[in-house]
Amino acid sequence: MLTKAPKGTMDILPEISYKWQYIEDEIRRICRQFGVKEVRTPVFEHTELFQRGVGDTTDVVEKEMYTFNDKGDRSITLRPEGTAGAVRSFIEHGMFNNPQPTKLCYLISCYRYEKPQAGRYREFHQFGVEYFGTQNPSADAEMISLPWTLYKRLGLTGLTVNINSIGCPVCRKEYNEKLKDYLRARYDDLCDTCKNRFDRNPMRILDCKSPICKDIVKGAPLLIDSICEECSTHFETVKKYLTSMDIPFEIDPYIVRGLDYYTKTVFEITAKNENSNGTICGGGRYDGLVEELGGGSVPACGFALGMERLLLTMQEQGIDIPDTHKLDIYVGHIGDENAMFAQKLVADLRSLGICADRDHLGRSVKAQMKYANKLGVKYSIILGDEEIAGKKVNLKNMDEGTQKEIELSAEIIAKNIVKE
Ligand code: ATP
Ligand code: MG
Repeated sequence: MLTKAPKGTMDILPEISYKWQYIEDEIRRICRQFGVKEVRTPVFEHTELFQRGVGDTTDVVEKEMYTFNDKGDRSITLRPEGTAGAVRSFIEHGMFNNPQPTKLCYLISCYRYEKPQAGRYREFHQFGVEYFGTQNPSADAEMISLPWTLYKRLGLTGLTVNINSIGCPVCRKEYNEKLKDYLRARYDDLCDTCKNRFDRNPMRILDCKSPICKDIVKGAPLLIDSICEECSTHFETVKKYLTSMDIPFEIDPYIVRGLDYYTKTVFEITAKNENSNGTICGGGRYDGLVEELGGGSVPACGFALGMERLLLTMQEQGIDIPDTHKLDIYVGHIGDENAMFAQKLVADLRSLGICADRDHLGRSVKAQMKYANKLGVKYSIILGDEEIAGKKVNLKNMDEGTQKEIELSAEIIAKNIVKE
């Protein structure tokens, strides 16, 4: 028990963490290019924030939250997603007073009590972006183009963008009645969760994973066919923006997303995965959320993508991620008396921006080189009495097996190291 991580969690080990860092670097770059700035919010929030913000008819709130009372008897929840915290922060810090839109991103761990399986964990990681203060359909289109661009840059193929519009509270109200009229005849066959949703949020029944409910909703009226003119024009413009950016998309009238606060555009990006859940990104517009959480009437849209599912998909597609964390040079030395010299040289090389290391176990020079080989270091040198006295050293290219004699100085060694 002591030496086993809790179910549904995992360690990201050194032989994998460079892949995370590679993707995170790409994410940071893309956010800068889109003018999006990071917000860091706490891992836990007041439970009520998620109940109100995520919506209490969602699977997340109904079944999946890690909720507990702290020692001060406050109900606390580990964040199951990032939007609610970002919105809370936006309101708390009066970001609506800044020139709009406010573009925020987060790269966070999330917690959901789910049945662990491939691509589904209890601790997982999300990258998400939220735009506040704009109703413009171009913002919805950027919520799709940002993750799309990221996936493309990372080399993913076979992706599908599915979009839908779930209208606004006005058109949805009318639609909900139509849907309930349709479902009423088969109410008794609905699963218990959907029976519960029937009055509270009937639209979510369209999204149920149970085969019986799926069958029941097959002939149901679709919201996309009855959205109001404003929502319809908005949706048409989102589609035009996507087309103008060469982003292919499909309309999927069954996407309602799991969360209550969505309005107008909703979307999912799916990958054809063999072993893991296909949805790798989801998002949309949520014009009602800021107000719901006590802020003013501020329109907003966003998306979140799962980091683990992204990595799994890259792995399944055989995309190679370069290990940029390999050392440039290993500084070997002969005899204890030269250890200090080697340490100083390593320190000098590091201050010149070179990734350098040396022995810390008192190994023989042969064992040092064997170790350097194992590390996959590109260059090595060996410091003996002769090299130090003569101020000359052989710089060995370990990949090519070649070597050349150069002056024994940190600057000269650094100049001769060719970084990839
Ligand atoms: P699903 O339908 O697969 O349960 P979701 O609708 O609950 O997904 P969101 O709340 O939209 O997912 O979260 C956004 C993204 O986060 C998902 O597209 C997915 O990539 C990732 N994600 C969600 N839950 C998990 C989890 N338990 N483990 C790993 N990744 C997850
Ligand atoms: Mg889920």
